[in-house]
Amino acid sequence: MSDAQQKIFEMAVMQSWNAIVITDADVRGGCKVLVANPAFCSMTGYTLDEIRGHDLKMLQGPDTDPEVIAHLRECLKTGRHFDGSTVNYRKDGSPYIVRWNISPVRDEAGVITNYVSVQQDLTAFREAERKVQLLARALDVTSVPVVLTDTCFRIIFANTAFASVTGYPVDELVGKTPAMLRSGQHGKAFYDALREALASGQDFSATFVNKRRDGSLYHVEQNISPLYDDNGKVSHYVSVSKDVSERVKREARLLHEASEDKLTALYNRRYGEKLLAEAHQRARALGTDLTLIVCDIDFFKQVNDHFGHLAGDQVITDVATILRGTVRTSDAVIRWGGEEFVVVLNDCDLGAGKDLAERLRAGVEAHRSDGVGTVTLSCGVASLKAQEPADALFARADAALYQSKSNGRNRVTAAGSF
Ligand code: GH3
Ligand code: MG
Ligand code: MG
Repeated sequence: MSDAQQKIFEMAVMQSWNAIVITDADVRGGCKVLVANPAFCSMTGYTLDEIRGHDLKMLQGPDTDPEVIAHLRECLKTGRHFDGSTVNYRKDGSPYIVRWNISPVRDEAGVITNYVSVQQDLTAFREAERKVQLLARALDVTSVPVVLTDTCFRIIFANTAFASVTGYPVDELVGKTPAMLRSGQHGKAFYDALREALASGQDFSATFVNKRRDGSLYHVEQNISPLYDDNGKVSHYVSVSKDVSERVKREARLLHEASEDKLTALYNRRYGEKLLAEAHQRARALGTDLTLIVCDIDFFKQVNDHFGHLAGDQVITDVATILRGTVRTSDAVIRWGGEEFVVVLNDCDLGAGKDLAERLRAGVEAHRSDGVGTVTLSCGVASLKAQEPADALFARADAALYQSKSNGRNRVTAAGSF
């Protein structure tokens, strides 16, 4: 090697960012330091003069792993390359985590003359790693579902609570996108709003209806926030959610209870009025048909008078069952008053409404209630006219019912036909 090349080698070793130390090959005597670069001195706190001629046992201490040192000795003895990591101690006694490798240096005859060791202080790196693990563990013990995605919404971290609420194990979630949880209950507008908020760097909060792995649905209040990198660019999204399925179920139950007529389990008047208003609004907005049937049991006072109030209740329940069982599932049957019912028929014209009312009337006439026998039903039918308010529609159906009553009862009258 030329002098110039040797100079380069020397400069390279002395200026290397890695700590480099070169010892003799006297393994039994402890491998004495011949030379160490400034990076080694600054990592250990010793000057070259303080360590030259000494072995490096001085760097070991209580937390130095004896197994690693034994492995190191074994490698040196057998002339193999060593690579390992343990705790070492600086001159001032402070510990640091070192990762180092040792290569034997051989002369032309193949005899080991020296060892060269290249070392790195991993303390900060391990500390950062420990912090990451600590955060992941902390997230895993919280009951709040947390998920972290990249900017393509691919999941890179999901905590245990997220796995348990979705039913997917964490390793099945990583790499996928939360689109796999879509229930089909949100329209395009919902996802557009989500994308738009995130694209403009804002949080997005909403109650999501999601689908678990087993196909069942659950409700979560979810907040998605963008995470920014050092350059201010969005690098990830973090989503924190709260399972509100129980609350939604409770609310649905309360709403159901508040909307239900206790005797017949049909909708009650209060909820029925709301349904009618909504149906009217929808029909007006979409230009679709809307038909109402208003019906009332004939001579019902006599049922109560002859058979008692309880038997009367049973008749009302029987009629309710007939109505509910005859209409389509998309139609709403409401107990409007004592023995008066309203049926709201969406997307149904007057002719079809009249046919259905006739089936209701015939169904009631054909039924025998225990201990009472038969009762009959009078119906009035009306279909929504252009620009007509809901109460005007109702009034026309009611007038048609009145017509049925005055024409002898047990009949159907369509508004406009009298
Ligand atoms: P119409 O053919 O003209 O309808 O004669 P009606 O006897 O049915 O007359 P009306 O509608 O005025 O009478 C309804 C009766 O229904 C009055 C009321 O005592 C009774 N009623 C109202 N609610 C209930 C109820 O929940 N249970 C029972 N058993 N009877 C009720
Ligand atoms: Mg009546
Ligand atoms: Mg009545």
